[in-house]
Amino acid sequence: MPTRPSEVFLSRLNAAADSDVTVLLRCTTVARADAVLEALIRAGTTAPVREVGNRARRLEVVRRLPAVLGPHTLDHSPGSAGPWDLARASDDPTVVVVRWSHLAGDARTCQEAVLDGLQHAGLLGADADRGCQCVRLPAGAQGPASPADAWGALRAQGESGVWDALRAALPATTPLLRPLRTALDTGAPTANTTDAAQATDAVALIAMDDVTTGHAPHHPPASRFAHVVSAVAAMSGQRRIGVTVDLRRHEPTLPGAGTAGNLSLVGWIVLPRRRPAPEPTHQRVQGLLRRRFWRQQLAVDAWLGDRSPERLADRCDLLIGGLAHRAPTTVTELWRDDGPVCAGCGRARRHLPPDIGVLAIPPALPPAGLTVGITRTAAHTTVSLRRVTLPGHSATAWLTTAAARWARGRTLHAGPVTHP
Ligand SMILES: [Zn+2]
Repeated sequence: MPTRPSEVFLSRLNAAADSDVTVLLRCTTVARADAVLEALIRAGTTAPVREVGNRARRLEVVRRLPAVLGPHTLDHSPGSAGPWDLARASDDPTVVVVRWSHLAGDARTCQEAVLDGLQHAGLLGADADRGCQCVRLPAGAQGPASPADAWGALRAQGESGVWDALRAALPATTPLLRPLRTALDTGAPTANTTDAAQATDAVALIAMDDVTTGHAPHHPPASRFAHVVSAVAAMSGQRRIGVTVDLRRHEPTLPGAGTAGNLSLVGWIVLPRRRPAPEPTHQRVQGLLRRRFWRQQLAVDAWLGDRSPERLADRCDLLIGGLAHRAPTTVTELWRDDGPVCAGCGRARRHLPPDIGVLAIPPALPPAGLTVGITRTAAHTTVSLRRVTLPGHSATAWLTTAAARWARGRTLHAGPVTHP
């Protein structure tokens, strides 16, 4: 199948920075970790996931196999399986590391793809079989479900298409048009760039179990997501924050699962300069969703599509190069395992069993950006910060300072991402 313009955009993004989502699965025993790894290898090497995943990896410009990522040193000997590069933590054999290509977009999110693989191997228990089964690969899938597919599906439904896209254009494109007055600060320059501590890519993990959904009297409720966005804004000094939305959960006119696909699209909210509280942040996120900003982004293939391959790549590089100055901070809910109910069928979504813990780490943004990923389970909320700095600046130093300012002792880890 031909390469879509939006896929060229993602492949150029991969050239600029690590675009994989990383999931750490911590098992109670080594035998359990072996079973998880085996299940994922089987799922990734079975058609059609194998074809979709292999195609995605071929479109990537750079193949990254980090030596250290988050709290672990990675042993890549398990190899790749479809959309996944699989690794063990060399320092802890109970941890399986799953790196998922953003280009795979096989109609499921990374979470759904992982849970599906584990369910097929019988690792999720009977609960999963009774739970929501809405998310599945479309029959005969060979390629990803891209924005172009969702755009086509909307048009086929009789949606007005162009006018919807224009109405949604302002929230979708504002950050690409207006540079920020104050860019994300890069921290003090470092002299020694060979030391791992001076790496330009780093991760910090923060425990946020004490965050509530805020039902104080006389205040509207704020989601846990809004609490994290507010904290990120306060910590980074940024007013414009990107929020990632799963299209399948929010676009009411798209037909069933499989058509919408794994479409995480980013919209932007602007917060007040001082004390960005969770409640007004929550209202701004809801306002962004009401405007259905993603419709403009769904038209991206049509917008970019009439260029030659060289001009298309140049155009994508120009957009990506501007991201660090115009939209450097993004927050995403990467894993939600706290018992949400499917809006489609009313049944509980699948979740991991108690003997497998999870932590998701977001992809990096091109220099110099900050991405924030949220992992929610029944017991814990963990926020992972990923910072990429310009050469000569230490991302670890920046994150260590920022996490200490934000978390006051709740930082679980702060360290570099290194490559061999
Ligand atoms: Zn369902």
